[in-house]
Amino acid sequence: MTPDCLFCKIAQGKIPATPVFSNDEIVAFRDINPQAPTHILVIPRNHITSIVDVDAADEALAGRLLRTAASIAKAEKIADSGFRLVLNCNKDGGQTVMHLHVHLMGGRGMAWPPG
Ligand code: 5GP
Ligand code: ZN
Repeated sequence: MTPDCLFCKIAQGKIPATPVFSNDEIVAFRDINPQAPTHILVIPRNHITSIVDVDAADEALAGRLLRTAASIAKAEKIADSGFRLVLNCNKDGGQTVMHLHVHLMGGRGMAWPPG
């Protein structure tokens, strides 16, 4: 838990969110400002600031974050049509919440390259 971290507070239930998945190490909830018909954030319960802060001890967790996102995509029935996973990192990457999160977006066609 990092004080004043929004996603730590969501993971602890101190700030409400619409839950999609939860286990002892991962929480997924709907983005408050969805950019696609399905827009879900998948986060570790423990505070990791960004993907560049994932160390060797977190490798398996990072893999489980991706597998969880894919599993949610299946449950949301967007796996066959396709979806996008996004990891924004730091300022130029567009990261605004400094707690590692995977965006799961789908339900519409995605443009490439992203903005
Ligand atoms: P980033 O820009 O850091 O990659 O993504 C942060 C995401 O968190 C944004 O898509 C934003 O809409 C979402 N977000 C910000 N505050 C909240 C909140 O209080 N609740 C939820 N559910 N999502 C949030
Ligand atoms: Zn945090």
